Amino acid sequence: MKVLLTDSVDMKARDILKSAGIEADVRPTMLEEELKEAIASYDAILVRSATKLNASVIERAENLRIIGRAGVGLDNIDLDAAKKMGIEVVNSPSGNSNAVAEHVIGLIFSLARNIHGAHSHVKAGGWEKKLFKGTEVREKKLGVIGLGRIGRLVSSAAAGLGMEVIGYDPYVKEEGVKGTAISLESIENLMRNSDFITIHVPLTDGTRSMIGKKELAMMKDGVMIINAARGGIIDEDALYDAITSGKVAGAALDVWKDEPPHESMLLKLDEVLATPHVGGNTHEAQVNVAVDVAEKIVKFFKDI
Ligand code: NAD
Repeated sequence: MKVLLTDSVDMKARDILKSAGIEADVRPTMLEEELKEAIASYDAILVRSATKLNASVIERAENLRIIGRAGVGLDNIDLDAAKKMGIEVVNSPSGNSNAVAEHVIGLIFSLARNIHGAHSHVKAGGWEKKLFKGTEVREKKLGVIGLGRIGRLVSSAAAGLGMEVIGYDPYVKEEGVKGTAISLESIENLMRNSDFITIHVPLTDGTRSMIGKKELAMMKDGVMIINAARGGIIDEDALYDAITSGKVAGAALDVWKDEPPHESMLLKLDEVLATPHVGGNTHEAQVNVAVDVAEKIVKFFKDI
């Protein structure tokens, strides 16, 4: 068995494959043409996000049995083409959940104290303390939309900070939050009562623009919103209007409708804290996802 590792996948993946007796070739960067030439001689490939396994590459992968994506999203893999060739695709849905949850907690604190604004102010020569009277998060209500892996990690960390956690997830019943700090509410109650709202749902036809003009109007004046899930779940034009009208006091966005969001009007607003889709980007998460997917590849070859 021979596996190709690209995109600087963490070397723990190579170690796991080797110790299972699988040959592992490491080629951190490959042009599409090089990949097309090489791929036929591999039984498996392990990628992060830079390598695009589009149909024209996959069609050349005559011997490939499995594609491992060291991460969550499968946007760089043509799943239909893989299916047509009978190639299994595996990923690591939970390897970076903790990284995202910690990023979200950081964004909540930064919004509450305007750390990003204070940072830019001092760097630009300012020292006007009165501009930076913050708000504390303890005893504030955090609305968590989507109670999956990341939503739950955020909820328990927030509860540890003394926040009251209101959760909404149509697929989670009361028993599902038993023993947690989450109190389940309707989406309307969550919108009306939360001081901070954080989104942790996948982007689907059902969640696209689920936070729009109507939902923003329902929210508490001065609410702060965090989105480290997927761009497009919040209607960015409606958010812009809600911020400029003073309804929304701050928004922290790690994900954007268009990435990079160079044309977004939201970047012009001081109330918007922007990060470049780095929620899951930690050293630990890179190791976790590489290990997770390498183990899945080893298991796959053991089972066939
Ligand atoms: P998950 O599948 O574990 O949880 C998603 C939850 O959303 C599920 O419990 C589901 O029932 C719920 N849900 C679905 N539709 C809903 C709706 N209409 N309203 C409320 N809840 C709904 O997913 P996860 O691993 O927790 O990931 C959450 C999000 O974070 C995803 O969008 C994922 O793509 C994103 N993510 C972002 C980064 C980043 O770098 N910023 C990294 C990893 C994941």
